[in-house]
Amino acid sequence: MDFDPTPEQVLLRDSVAALGKRYGHGYFVARAKAGEHSDELWADAAKLGYLGVNLPVEYGGGGGGITELAIVVEELAAAGCPLLLLVVSPAIAGTVIARHGTEEQRARFLPGLADGTEKICFAITEPDAGSNFHRLSTVARAAPDGGYLLTGRKVYISGVDECGHVLVVARMADGTQRSDGSARLKPALFLVPTDAPGLSHSKIEMEIVSPENQYLLFFDDLHLPAEALLGGSADAGLPALFSGLNPERITVAAMGAGTARYALDRASTYAASRTVWGRPIGTHQGLAHPLAHAYVQVELARLGIAKAAALYDAGRDLEAGVAANLAKYASSEAATLAVDTAIQVHGGNGMTTEYGVATLLGGVRAGRIAPVSREMILNFLAQHVLGQEKSY
Ligand SMILES: Cc1cc2nc3c(=O)[nH]c(=O)nc-3n(C[C@H](O)[C@H](O)[C@H](O)COP(=O)(O)OP(=O)(O)OC[C@H]3O[C@@H](n4cnc5c(N)ncnc54)[C@H](O)[C@@H]3O)c2cc1C
Repeated sequence: MDFDPTPEQVLLRDSVAALGKRYGHGYFVARAKAGEHSDELWADAAKLGYLGVNLPVEYGGGGGGITELAIVVEELAAAGCPLLLLVVSPAIAGTVIARHGTEEQRARFLPGLADGTEKICFAITEPDAGSNFHRLSTVARAAPDGGYLLTGRKVYISGVDECGHVLVVARMADGTQRSDGSARLKPALFLVPTDAPGLSHSKIEMEIVSPENQYLLFFDDLHLPAEALLGGSADAGLPALFSGLNPERITVAAMGAGTARYALDRASTYAASRTVWGRPIGTHQGLAHPLAHAYVQVELARLGIAKAAALYDAGRDLEAGVAANLAKYASSEAATLAVDTAIQVHGGNGMTTEYGVATLLGGVRAGRIAPVSREMILNFLAQHVLGQEKSY
């Protein structure tokens, strides 16, 4: 067992932290409130090679793993810039295309993902299916020209307005029939241009302070060429979908841990200087203990994240699945606790924009719901680790 990062990982962490500091939470909030994106930060991160750290070297990436990408995500969040697009684009889409794309799809998309010129969002959630992915009803039918026609709806899709493509999880007839004679469907993933005719989107107003937005997507007999099918075959769908889940959970967990560190840093600084009874408020255990308690939760979550990322990078996908769920659960709980504690430590100042902690509330709260809710993680662990029967 080795708890020491490599010298390259230490350097990466320090360098990303330095970039994050140059922007900071003020930048992030200002962009969000102006209805603008964090383009400058994205471009700088791209220039420094941070966006493609996990992508293969032959496509312009850094050749690292999810460990490295989690470091990038965490350090930007720890500087007050939690970027969800790092999760959907390089972590999910990058992994799925690198592992399951055709050679043409890898050559077409990976270099752009690595240099930041291409962003790809990810669409699985549907209004009527929710956490029950067996109920996905976005369907791809064969078109007469060998392509596909896509119909359906997706909800809460992050970053559609910033991305050139969206990786859509749909279902296709698998050539067999159910007992009632209807066609059996299996998951298939499609790379869909966000400006394709037949695709419309509308912004969902969210109570999250972030330059990244969520959208409702409609596919109305959207025509796709055969090359849009990820991996060139519907058989690639299920393994491709699963390959994106662990990177998603690990990087979301890293975002939560980074945000929690930012909040605790702000709170500790404040507690050490704010004086109400003739001494800093941090000397009161009523404040110091909740801060220390939150710190313990965050550090435990970070250990979980490092373990999940190491297992994933070692190709131990099944073990990584349990560890990634655990890390995501621990991190989102710790982040919510840390931000809430930081607000309490700040008193009234905690609710101001100026002090920059309440602006994190929506994001960390969403982390307990997305990309997989705390309840669905507990279901997974109860069934697959603790051997309990499924109730739903
Ligand atoms: C900020 C944000 C960004 C997002 N970005 C994306 C994105 O880019 N792409 C994308 O595809 N999706 C995205 N999502 C959607 C997200 O993945 C879903 O919101 C999440 O999976 C939960 O689904 P749901 O909202 O339909 O909740 P529901 O499934 O309706 O669940 C509602 C509640 O019931 C609970 N519940 C449901 N089933 C069970 C059960 N069997 N046992 C116990 N409890 C249960 C849930 O845990 C939850 O608390 C995003 C969501 C948010 C908030």
